[in-house]
Amino acid sequence: MVKTNIPFYLSLAGIAGIVFFLALERVFPFRRMTLLPWQRWLINFSLSFCNLLIVDQGFVILLQRTSLFTELFHLDLFGRLGLNSFSRVILTIVILDLAMYVWHRLNHAIPFLWRFHRVHHSDREVDVTTASRFHFGEVTLGAMINYALMLSLGASIWEVRIFKVIFVFMTQLTHSNIRIAKPQEDIFWLVFVSPSMHRIHHSDIRCETDSNYGTIFSVWDRLFRTIVSGVNAKKLHFGLKEFEKPQELTWPRLITMPLKPVERKK
Ligand SMILES: [Zn+2]
Repeated sequence: MVKTNIPFYLSLAGIAGIVFFLALERVFPFRRMTLLPWQRWLINFSLSFCNLLIVDQGFVILLQRTSLFTELFHLDLFGRLGLNSFSRVILTIVILDLAMYVWHRLNHAIPFLWRFHRVHHSDREVDVTTASRFHFGEVTLGAMINYALMLSLGASIWEVRIFKVIFVFMTQLTHSNIRIAKPQEDIFWLVFVSPSMHRIHHSDIRCETDSNYGTIFSVWDRLFRTIVSGVNAKKLHFGLKEFEKPQELTWPRLITMPLKPVERKK
């Protein structure tokens, strides 16, 4: 059986990534933060801690013990195709990243999913801690999809761990408030998602929010024509127009945000 609970060292790698990018944000900041960081950081980290407890330690273990779910999705495609270990690792990364692109698009397109995903988009600044700001409802549903895919592919625990490390690192990088020289970032953007590309996704203008969905590879946004570029990220307004007031962005309000009706402003 494939185990999906994040082991201790994977959590440590995530914490190390946050410390690393926070240090880079201090040395090479992209833009000056207008809000005091501590309040946002506390909220973002506490949401992340909640997810770690509820999803990684509870829900996924429960799912692993549910034989019906395992039997339904255990197709073991890699095993049937007889792929070598290198192809298996590459395919795991590419397929799971594509799945996350589709999942992210669905989170924007389906009002029920948007109720949860807007917690992530409600952050009025974007830095590495935004990469930890997700509602446990979204993370739970995402974990189910991830688990079903792992079973279908027959990916090993190590193949999935390699994907997870890269995925978490790229999520942290693309949310970081770091300045990268344009020529270098343009080259990076040819293959991978860059911080500039993802900042546009956090704009409070809806046509920009509904673009640049990728996490690791930029090819999915190019292929499915959801890429937006050429926006001056220094002038972007982050967050959501429908949740601008600080009193709407407290921890209890964020946890209960999915209960609020969906009303998206242009
Ligand atoms: Zn999004």
